Amino acid sequence: MKLGFIGLGIMGRPMALNLRRAGHALWVHGRRPVTMEVLVEAGARACASAADVAANADIIFIMVSDTPDVEQVVSGEGGLMPRLRPGQVVVDMSTISPAVTRRLAQELLTRGVEMLDAPVSGGEAGAINATLSIMVGGKDKVFERVKPLFEVLGKNIVHVGDNGAGQVAKACNQIVVAVTIEAVAEALTFARRSGVDAARVRDALMGGFAGSRVMEVHGKRMLDNDFKPGFKVRLHQKDLRIVMENAHQLGLALPGAALVAQHLNALMGDDDGDLDSAAVVKVVQRMSGLDGK
Ligand code: NAP
Repeated sequence: MKLGFIGLGIMGRPMALNLRRAGHALWVHGRRPVTMEVLVEAGARACASAADVAANADIIFIMVSDTPDVEQVVSGEGGLMPRLRPGQVVVDMSTISPAVTRRLAQELLTRGVEMLDAPVSGGEAGAINATLSIMVGGKDKVFERVKPLFEVLGKNIVHVGDNGAGQVAKACNQIVVAVTIEAVAEALTFARRSGVDAARVRDALMGGFAGSRVMEVHGKRMLDNDFKPGFKVRLHQKDLRIVMENAHQLGLALPGAALVAQHLNALMGDDDGDLDSAAVVKVVQRMSGLDGK
């Protein structure tokens, strides 16, 4: 199959490599040419713009940072739009706004091009090892066409619903992860202020209802004071911004998510955007006069 891949960062590069290694012809575009080198070594063709990818590939994957970036790749200067042809599919795997996703899907349809939103969870390790969870929005027949390619990239692949439904599922994922990080941060801080060994508290909690992947992974990072990412504060802040903007449009109160969004804002203001989002514990500690270390 003739595939395209745009956005070759932490996630995009290993995902594109997995598609190439599965034997597909691949055209790639990275904003910084250096990001294309490893793909070219693997046999992909480097393109100077997203438009050049559109001129060659039948199914085009996007994995860039934020909502305006996907809009830029689709319809900005050098973007896909003018070179698209009926029958192509655009698969956006970035985490962006569900509302903008629905609008982009409509715009693409005016050129006879279908779109899937397919955000992921599982991080860099999931991208490298092809074990991502993939949450897909779009039409059944388009999902079926792209599914074998999703199977090259991930393990838990769920067709959630129509366009935008994948992004809604990802927003739900980020609400649960964020509020759980906050809960783990508060619990371990409570243990510490009470003069009890927080590591043993975590051990005790892991076996019961309070146990979770977040308690395991983020709880460990908090105890070790090791905030090497992982998933960066700036990306989690972006994801909760998407959640809160869409909640605002829906007239929906999400007080837990709103609280964690404020704590992520505080970390950004303290120049901690590149730390793992387990660093929320630093904000919780500082509020009560602990050292925030
Ligand atoms: P990243 O390492 O920052 O990579 C983003 C890539 O997109 C960069 O190569 C960047 O180019 C490119 N890009 C951004 N804006 C662009 C634009 N307007 N035009 C062309 N290229 C553009 O981020 P990432 O970690 O791969 O994340 C990508 C997406 O996956 C995000 O939506 C993120 O929320 C989501 N995600 C990430 C993780 C994770 O653990 N990292 C997990 C799940 C989901 P430059 O190299 O020039 O900056």
